[in-house]
Amino acid sequence: MPPVIGIDLGTSNSLCAVFDGGRPRLITNAHGEVLTPSIVGVDDKGQILVGATAKELRVTRPASCVWAFKRWMGTERRVEIAGREFGPQELSAMVLTSLKHDAEAALGETVHHAVITVPAYFNDNQRNATKVAGELAGLRVLRLLNEPTAAALTYGFHDRDAERRLIVIDLGGGTFDVTVMDVFQGTLEIISTAGEGMLGGEDFTDRLVAWVLDGRGLNLETAEMRQPLLVARLRRECEVAKCRLSDHSEASIRIPDMSGRFSDDCPIVTLDRSEFQRIVDPIVERLARPIGKAIRDSRLRPEDLQEVILAGGATRMWPVREFVEKYFGRPPVCTHDPDEVVALGAAVQAALMSDDAAVSDMVMTDICPFTLGVEICKEFGQSYADGYFLPVIHRNTTIPVSREQIVQTIRPNQQEVTLSIYQGDARKVKDNVLLGRLTVSGIPPGPSGLVVHVRFTYDINGILEVEAFVGGTTKHFSTVLTHNAKNLSKREIAAAVRLMQSVKFFPRDDVRNQRLVLFAERVVGEVGTFGRSEVEMALDQFEQAMASGEREWFYAARRGLLETLAAVGFPYDAGDDEETSHGDDDS
Ligand code: ADP
Ligand code: MG
Repeated sequence: MPPVIGIDLGTSNSLCAVFDGGRPRLITNAHGEVLTPSIVGVDDKGQILVGATAKELRVTRPASCVWAFKRWMGTERRVEIAGREFGPQELSAMVLTSLKHDAEAALGETVHHAVITVPAYFNDNQRNATKVAGELAGLRVLRLLNEPTAAALTYGFHDRDAERRLIVIDLGGGTFDVTVMDVFQGTLEIISTAGEGMLGGEDFTDRLVAWVLDGRGLNLETAEMRQPLLVARLRRECEVAKCRLSDHSEASIRIPDMSGRFSDDCPIVTLDRSEFQRIVDPIVERLARPIGKAIRDSRLRPEDLQEVILAGGATRMWPVREFVEKYFGRPPVCTHDPDEVVALGAAVQAALMSDDAAVSDMVMTDICPFTLGVEICKEFGQSYADGYFLPVIHRNTTIPVSREQIVQTIRPNQQEVTLSIYQGDARKVKDNVLLGRLTVSGIPPGPSGLVVHVRFTYDINGILEVEAFVGGTTKHFSTVLTHNAKNLSKREIAAAVRLMQSVKFFPRDDVRNQRLVLFAERVVGEVGTFGRSEVEMALDQFEQAMASGEREWFYAARRGLLETLAAVGFPYDAGDDEETSHGDDDS
C-alpha cells in the first residue's frame, strides 16, 4: 500500500503525520517544526510564501498575507494579495502542498493519498471545498475525518483497553468543537457532536488587542483600518503575552507607535492571570453553549463523562482550563499534546484505511454530523405553506444508518410528488443546503393524504441513497446522492450502495409483521373498552417502530404488542415466526 498521510488542516496551524513502525508520528517541516502556520503571503518578488515564513512577513506586511481562510471554506469569497486573487481552496491547497512536500522529504517517496481532518460541524460545501483543496495539491482524499474523532482516535490508540465515556473539547485558532464518545476495548463510538465556527484562540488575542487599544483611547476596528501596522505588531505582542500567561503568572506587552515601530522607551502594559481572565471572560462564557448542546444530544449528564480531553492550542489558556474544570467538576486530561492529537489521529485513521496490522483490533463508528431530510408543506387551516423541513436522519445518528419517514399527497388525484432533499438543522429548507431531488410519479388516483414512504440510507463514505415507495402500490423510486463523497469512482459508489443494503431494516415489508398488525386490528374491534386503548397504544408503537428502521426499538415494540395482546385475552400465536420476523436478510 502506498503511503497515506494524515493532515490536520487547521485555521491557525496545520500538521502532517504518518503511521509507521506501528505508531503515528509527526512530520517536521523545513524549519524542523511540526506546526506549519496556515498563512500564505506574497513577497516583493511575487513569490508565494507558506507557513512560518509567511507568518514573519505578516508582521511587517499584513496586506501581502492571508490567514484564517479556513473560515471561508465553501464560500465564493476571494482575496487579492499583491495583485493576485485567491479563493480559500487555493490557499488551503498551498498549505497542503507544503505539507505534502515535507512528508515526501521525510519518507523519501511521493505521496498521493491523504486523510484530512475537518471540524465536525463542517457542512457539505465546506467538506467538498476541503476535498477540492486536496485535489489541487495533488492529493486524493481518502477520508475526511472529524477533528474531535481524530483526537479521540489518538487517545483510543494509545489506551486500547480503556472503557470509558469521554468528551473532547477542541478549541483551535478560529473554531470550537465538542464531541461525546464511548471508548470500549478499541472500539470508538461517536455519540454526539456540536461546535461553533467563529470561536477560537484568535478571539482571545483580538480581545486583548482591543483592551490595550481601549486603554489608549483607540478602537480596534478603526485602528485596523487607519494604523494596520500598529495593529499587526500589537497583535503579535498580544499573542505572545497570551501564550506566556499559559505557563507564567505575568506577561508584558510593548506598544508600538502609530507607524508600528517600537521605540526604545515604548510604553509597556503588564498584566497578570486574573486581569487576563477578566478581559477574556465574555469569550470563555461562549464555550458553555456548544458543550451543553453536545451533552444534551448525547442524553448524558456532565457527571456521566469519565474523561474530559483537551485538543487545540487555545485549550492551554488558564481561563479555558478553569472553565472546563468547573463545568465538569474534574480536571481535564491532556496526556497528549493538544496541538498534535488531531494530526496523530488522522494518521491512525490512515492506518485503519491501509489495513495496518498495528490497528487490526481497533474499530470506529462515526455519526452523521448533520440532519438529512426532505421539504414538506404544512397545513394552516385551509391553505398549505411549503418550505418546511422534515428530518429523516437526525444529526448525531450512528452511521451507516437507514431511516424512513412518511409524506402525503396534498391534493385529490395528485399524480406526482417531487422530493427535495436537504441537509441542515433549520426548520425551513431555505436555511439548509439542497442536495438533490427525486420525482415520484404514477401515484394512483384518490383523495389527498395518500402515503409515500421516504427512506434514507447514509453510509460512512457520505453516500446518501434516497428511496420512495408509493403506498398501496409496488412503485419504487430511488436516487444516490454523492455530494459528501465526490472523490469515489462510479464503481466504488456502486459497491458502497450494495453494501448499504445490509443496513436497511424495515420489518414492515415482512408479511409476518403485516399479519400481526391485521390480527391486532381485529382485536381492537373485538376487545372491551379498556383493552382496546391498551392494544391501540401498543399497535401504534409497533407501527412506528417498524417504520423507524431501529432494530432495538422494533424488537421491544413487538414484544410489547405480543404481551398486551396476551394480557387482554387474545394471545397471538407467532409460531415459528417469533425469532425470525424482523424482515431482514440475515435471519
Ligand atoms: P487550529 O486548529 O485552528 O489551527 P491550533 O490548535 O493550532 O488551531 O490553535 C491555535 C490557537 O491556539 C491560536 O489562537 C494560538 O494563539 C493558541 N495557542 C497556541 N499555543 C498557546 C499557548 N501556549 N497558550 C495559549 N494559547 C495558545
Ligand atoms: Mg485544530
